[in-house]
Amino acid sequence: MTQNETAATTINKDDLIVVAGAGGFIAGALVRYFAEQGFTRIRAVDKKPLPKWYQRVPGVESLCLDVSERENCERACEGAREVYNLAADMGGMGFIENFRIECLRSILINTHMIEAAYQAGAERYFFSSSACAYNVELQQDPNVRALKESDAYPAMAERGYGWEKLMSEMFCQEYWAERKLKTAIARFHNVYGPNGTWDGGREKAPAALSRKVIEAVDSGELKMDIWGDGTQTRSFMYIDDCTRGIDYIMHCDALVATPINLGSSELISINALVDLIESIAGVTLEREYLLDAPRGVAGRNSDNTFIQQVLGWEPNTPLREGMAKTYAWIMQQYEDRKAGKPTPAGDVEGH
Ligand code: NAD
Repeated sequence: MTQNETAATTINKDDLIVVAGAGGFIAGALVRYFAEQGFTRIRAVDKKPLPKWYQRVPGVESLCLDVSERENCERACEGAREVYNLAADMGGMGFIENFRIECLRSILINTHMIEAAYQAGAERYFFSSSACAYNVELQQDPNVRALKESDAYPAMAERGYGWEKLMSEMFCQEYWAERKLKTAIARFHNVYGPNGTWDGGREKAPAALSRKVIEAVDSGELKMDIWGDGTQTRSFMYIDDCTRGIDYIMHCDALVATPINLGSSELISINALVDLIESIAGVTLEREYLLDAPRGVAGRNSDNTFIQQVLGWEPNTPLREGMAKTYAWIMQQYEDRKAGKPTPAGDVEGH
């Protein structure tokens, strides 16, 4: 067991924790994580109407607010001891390659949220950055060299989404340097798990591929399409590792205003991920490769030397274990939707 500081060892159970983006995948899980630890004052905010939130946790103050507006950020942060900003207009490669303007506009969210957190006298502020902040030129080869924190500069981030993350990271660093707000900056590498988007255009590879396998089995047409040639490599972090990592990073004073990778270092190609899902489902499908579809960088992995050094911990849920839970959850959603039940995470969203 690690001896890392956490919210539970740092603040009181009745201190106010604010989580933005809580109608979404990761922040929804974070709210549940804090609620399960006995925190009694959690304020969850998201611009999505409440019935569309992936998770609603009983006893949590849940507000529908657009936090790209300054006044709404002030309302959201009022009285907060800690603020976690995970709100962003984002999605998988299909979204971030086609909607760069929406991605860039998330700069408004962090700009107003961090100022509101500062004005409210919050002690700590968390920002969810991304591996997309790294220089894309270092990610052209599927046999990747894992990305370490210093690889963000010289900057050549993912257009749109990645540049927004870099600029918002810089805001976090300057709020610490100039105003002594303790900021935490985690660069997430692909996160997956139950209660995330699995359909509609914003879903990421683990959920999209699971859904495609389920659809193929259900339709009896035993084939599926794959974006790109399937050789692109990635690492995938299970959601429970992500929430725990957020808690550790937020409460580690050695990491204030210091970007750090939060991701798995278990590298896998998209083809091998499909093999894994097929083995969970107990089928083998014919594969059609869509070479013109968005495929992202050729290869990306998380170098976990730094997080190991500082926290003595890294995300460690085996992919097979996490994917089995994710597959089972998507299967349930799929069946619920077919039966006409509401399934917020599977809705088709407009932009
Ligand atoms: P998500 O899309 O499920 O959740 C984001 C939430 O933010 C959504 O519910 C959305 O409605 C909300 N939101 C967007 N604009 C808003 C606004 N103006 N006001 C209020 N709410 C708003 O995404 P996620 O996967 O949970 O990602 C959370 C954070 O983690 C994001 O900052 C994302 O960039 C980052 N991240 C995620 C991954 C991943 O693999 N999921 C990887 C790297 C970084």
